[in-house]
Amino acid sequence: MGDFYQTLGVPKNASQDDIKKAFRKLARDFHPDKNPGDKRSEEKFKEVSEAYETLSDAEKRKQYDEMSRLGAFGPGAGGFRPGAGGYQGFDPGMFRPGGAQFDGGDLGDILGNLFGGGRGRRKANERGDDLQVDVTVSFEDSLHGVTVRVPVDKPDTCDTCHGSGAKPGTTPKVCPQCQGRGSIARNLGGFAMPQTCPQCRGAGTIIEQPCPACGGNGVQHKTKRYAVKIPAGVKDGSKIRIKGKGEAGLRGGPAGDLFVKVGVEPDDLFERRGDDIVLEVPVTISEAALGTSVRIPIPGGGRVALKVPAGSQDGRTLRVRGKGAPRLKGGHGDLHVRLHVQVPDKLTKEQKQLFEKLGATLPDPRAAVLG
Ligand SMILES: [Zn+2]
Ligand SMILES: [Zn+2]
Repeated sequence: MGDFYQTLGVPKNASQDDIKKAFRKLARDFHPDKNPGDKRSEEKFKEVSEAYETLSDAEKRKQYDEMSRLGAFGPGAGGFRPGAGGYQGFDPGMFRPGGAQFDGGDLGDILGNLFGGGRGRRKANERGDDLQVDVTVSFEDSLHGVTVRVPVDKPDTCDTCHGSGAKPGTTPKVCPQCQGRGSIARNLGGFAMPQTCPQCRGAGTIIEQPCPACGGNGVQHKTKRYAVKIPAGVKDGSKIRIKGKGEAGLRGGPAGDLFVKVGVEPDDLFERRGDDIVLEVPVTISEAALGTSVRIPIPGGGRVALKVPAGSQDGRTLRVRGKGAPRLKGGHGDLHVRLHVQVPDKLTKEQKQLFEKLGATLPDPRAAVLG
């Protein structure tokens, strides 16, 4: 038994995702169904499954790393080979000090956590991965809500075996290696430890005649189309979770979830800020000074009249309550109207004279602040 990382061909700092990918590839290559009668592939498949079982579980992996550090798997440590048989099930009394490097209970605890205790036991049927698809909706649709049809390419439940992996009309049989218990005892450097059965991967049963359509894993690649309801008021970047519409689980395991990530196209006029929406409205210098009423568009369609108070400064923001985006929990945000006072940059002769006449009447605005 070599190093688990070497077995999967991944570096020691590989992510869980990398480990899973490496395992899936190797498991496909060495699957007994693909290599009937090939003892080497079968052995390799067991090794790969064993390595994955430990490295795919964050807790077990930590303990495995710790044990590697302690030299538990090194030369002279007794190795990590399958026992000669005869160990039946889990018995704490089987803990026995082995090689000289091992002293006392600490290692026993590590071993116990690593291979016993029943927690984290991998099942033969494995949950499918979550999937994400991206959709883009217009700003308008994001306010009203919309139903979009989303195509999803994914491993889906096999139509022929309905996900079980067994050829229709056949039934899985009791695993001969573990007699249906799902676990076997291993001799680990002088310690006998229970471990998930590599032949049935803990299921206790094995499929003798795999489904011809899917090769026994219970999944088939398909393009599914889902009608996804995008709620009114959806924000750019939100994710909608659709339970059970991700990748199908292996051999009848539960499906993962589908996440629909919604992108909202920007609008020429309106800018979303949380549940509020900002609209910039230009006004003339005299409208700002004297006050006026302007008709403004509101998000989602329609117009309202907005009173601009006399003496409004450039950048002043007026709030129109309840005319923002719909809130997912009900109600609406507000519309913030930001005034942009436009100072004319081209003046006719007459306008220039009027400004000069007006300017002569205005007090020096700097006198108060700059002295
Ligand atoms: Zn099938
Ligand atoms: Zn078994």
